[in-house]
Amino acid sequence: MAVADVVTMDKIVSLSKRRGFVFPSSEIYGGLGSSYDYGHYGVLLKNNVKGQWWRAMLQERDDIVALDSAIIQHPATWVASGHLAGFTDPLVDCRTCKLRFRADKLEEEQCGRKPSKHPGETPECDLTEARAFNLMFETTIGPVKEEGSTVYLRPETAQGIFLNFKNYLQFSRKKPPFGIAQIGKSFRNEITTGNFIFRTREFEQMEMEFFVPPPEAQSWFEHWLEQRMDWYVNLGIRTDHLRLRPHTPDELSHYSSATSDIEYLFPIGWSELEGIANRGDFDLTQHAKHSGQNLEYFDTVTQDRYIPHVIEPAAGADRALLAFMVDAYDEDEIEGEGRTVLRLHPLLAPVKVAVLPLVRKDGQPELAGEVYRALRERVQAEYDEGGAIGRRYRRQDEIGTPWAITIDHQSLEDRTVTVRDRDSLAQDRVSIDALGDEIERRLRAPWRSPKLGA
Ligand code: ATP
Repeated sequence: MAVADVVTMDKIVSLSKRRGFVFPSSEIYGGLGSSYDYGHYGVLLKNNVKGQWWRAMLQERDDIVALDSAIIQHPATWVASGHLAGFTDPLVDCRTCKLRFRADKLEEEQCGRKPSKHPGETPECDLTEARAFNLMFETTIGPVKEEGSTVYLRPETAQGIFLNFKNYLQFSRKKPPFGIAQIGKSFRNEITTGNFIFRTREFEQMEMEFFVPPPEAQSWFEHWLEQRMDWYVNLGIRTDHLRLRPHTPDELSHYSSATSDIEYLFPIGWSELEGIANRGDFDLTQHAKHSGQNLEYFDTVTQDRYIPHVIEPAAGADRALLAFMVDAYDEDEIEGEGRTVLRLHPLLAPVKVAVLPLVRKDGQPELAGEVYRALRERVQAEYDEGGAIGRRYRRQDEIGTPWAITIDHQSLEDRTVTVRDRDSLAQDRVSIDALGDEIERRLRAPWRSPKLGA
């Protein structure tokens, strides 16, 4: 059924815009490079991605608790964490073209001391020496810009977790090994952005810090590598498009003794989806030092006192959403007509069922309305009565709706409807009374990407 992998980034961008997943931001003013707005289906899809992450972190385990910390934190946070001094990328300017690049990504930028592809047709790029450019967005707190009023938009959600570690020891009745999970916006003034929502200056992270007794750090690191790979696979990402890549020693961050990236084969090539790091005791030790607070854990049973080590799976919600869309994108033919279809895992699909009366008369819209109102009590549903049925199916296929319910003349006689499956195109007759249960059964059934073939 499915043809070879046909996806390109351009097709994802255009589908996103056409169907209201993601738009370039501030478009009426000509856009603001690398800022995007999520439309209706994009919001639903991203909520499902985040919902599945919360589910895996909170609902399916009893050793992780949730947090939603502030975006603007005490500026000392970023001194202690090392971000103020070291969260930089090497920046170079081109004297001829007046453009700026990340010195470590020149190949990708099509720059370097070689024939330029920049506007102005300059034959050679004339690059300055690289200088460190801090990626944190700076702003001022309070009405007067004065000494001490500089604050930063957080470049990661993780530090908010470390700042709250002590609170959690006191109220959550947890002891290591346990984790604190958080989803929220982070901001990085990236030198170059691009590839749609892959790298933007404002993005959402899904991070969890797992605090463990130091001798257990390595085994928990391995546990989280496996758990996080499984999360993507269970949500339908093809295993041959997913890999784990350990960082080489010179790639490791200053705080990390081991990091592996989960990478996805995007149309731009293998790229990071999520990083899983063993941060050791770096963060808690630094915050203890800079705040003067004791951030040790005291085990009342063994009388042990120690700073826990931390294992951190850090994922991007936008990047994950992009990977799920890319992995799901497909084109095929139905009765000689081409269609675009998002073969999303049903749990991720923005809309689970569409209710479509075959014709807009003979009591069909009324019965369809009744079916729709009953279904939307249980799942995200959509009602559509306008236009030819084939066009309505194709619209749902493009937003990834796994099941379309059609109400026809027979439905009024025997109270049955057809359930059309997005991938197999099978049409099953189901009684209206059993429909809600049947949809929920299908939603929870094991699922495998049809792009993998038989
Ligand atoms: P990269 O090497 O791509 O810049 P990173 O290693 O700096 O990423 P981390 O600090 O490990 O990224 O952040 C964890 C996750 O947050 C990344 O795996 C990615 O999914 C997401 N992320 C980081 N930076 C961005 C960004 N600018 N835009 C979108 N998502 C991002």
